[in-house]
Amino acid sequence: MAKYRVWIDRDQCISDMVCVALCPDVFEMNPEDNKSQIVERWRPSPDKIGEGIIPEELKDCAEKAAEACPVSIIHVEPAE
Ligand code: SF4
Repeated sequence: MAKYRVWIDRDQCISDMVCVALCPDVFEMNPEDNKSQIVERWRPSPDKIGEGIIPEELKDCAEKAAEACPVSIIHVEPAE
């Protein structure tokens, strides 16, 4: 099954929660800095909060979030 890499340029997040509203299985808000992060189960390691490897069934919602992000800082691409 194909997997996809998703990452967020967190420094530029404006905390409007659009990604969380569209795809809560992949994105959540960090309670400390109030910016978006990847849900922990998808992270390559727990401290890499802006990165994830997601299964194919979550690709569509992650891409919808990427398209809707007002500052275009979410990226989705096939994983190696
Ligand atoms: S949609 Fe973009 S700007 Fe908004 S919370 Fe998500 S990553 Fe941040």
